[in-house]
Parts: sequence; C-alpha cells; structure tokens
Amino acid sequence: MNKRWTIKTIDCYDSNNHNNILTNDYVYRCLKKTKLDCYFDFNVKHSDSYETRPWLNDMWPWPENPYEVVIFTKGTIPGCLFSDDTKYIVGGADINGKRCSVTFSYIDSQIEIGARIIHEILHTYDLDADGMTSREYSNFIIWLSKNNKKHLRFVSDPNAYYNDWHYLGQELLCEYYRYLIETNLQISWWTKLLCKIMRWF
Ligand SMILES: [Zn+2]
Repeated sequence: MNKRWTIKTIDCYDSNNHNNILTNDYVYRCLKKTKLDCYFDFNVKHSDSYETRPWLNDMWPWPENPYEVVIFTKGTIPGCLFSDDTKYIVGGADINGKRCSVTFSYIDSQIEIGARIIHEILHTYDLDADGMTSREYSNFIIWLSKNNKKHLRFVSDPNAYYNDWHYLGQELLCEYYRYLIETNLQISWWTKLLCKIMRWF
C-alpha cells in the first residue's frame, strides 16, 4: 500500500475575505495531533494548482493526481461554488482516483482538521471511516478493550464525547481510525511499535 500522501494547501479566503492562515506548519501540527501521522508519509506543500469538479451540488477544488489531498476554506476560490445546502459537508474522497478534498474553518480544532484529512484518506483505501458507531462498532470495542482502556470508558458514554466533540470526540474518532488502519492496512510491526511509543508523548 502506498502511504506517501501530499497535502496541498491552496490559496483561498474565508467568507470575510481574510487571508488564509493555513500554513504548511499548521497542517503538520494538525496531523501530529491525531497521533496517526506515524502510519503515513505526509508531505505538506503550498500549491495553486487544482482542478474543479462537481461535488454534491457544488464545485470543489480537487487535486489532479492520486495520493494527493487539497485543503482549503470554503470562500472565494476561482471556478468553485459552495452552496448553503452543503455547509456541513467538510470533505470528500474520490475512491477510484485516490484523492481527497477537505475544507476547514477557523472554529475547527487542530485535531479535528487532522482527523478530517485522515478520514478522507481512509475512504480511498475503501475503509469504513463513517462506521464508528454503526457497522464496525462491536469489533472496535473489542479492539479498544485490548489496546486502549482510556478511551474504552468514553465509548459507553456518548454524552461525554458528543459534549466535547472538538477534542475528546476527535480523540475517540482517531482511535477508531487507528483500529481501521492496524486491522486492515499492511502495517509493519515496527511501525505499530513506533506509533505506540508516539502515543505516550
Ligand atoms: Zn466519511
């Protein structure tokens, strides 16, 4: 499996036409907060090139190549269009083309932005990134009970993580993504060990 992914930050403006604050360093920090960056080989760079493609009823920017993600704010992007109906839609994955498009806004926490990027990437490996509380739930609980007691106790208390969705909720989501990665993708034992050590810090 290819784990090299390029994250492209594109020039764009928020709805108040403020300059984009999304620097490459900021994106690296967001990915680091998920503690899942150790499974991938991320390269974040600024880019002005993207293609516009329909997504739901809108026109979104998309990367031109496989294993690329564009990240942007919904605002004034040449050739793009964002409607009110899709204001809660924050990402998309082109599974066959292996590329993703992700939006962020200024109220999103860092871990939330990082988790969102990884969420869409997992879709391109055909993993059920949406299934934490449905299809994959029972297997996830079994995995958590062996691997992460701290988060296990939150799963049985949805109020705890829904009330703290930007932080605790995202941590739990990231544990779910870890479960998907470790049980479905080809990850070497030493990468698993390295990722385990990284979680202690
Ligand atoms: Zn999804």
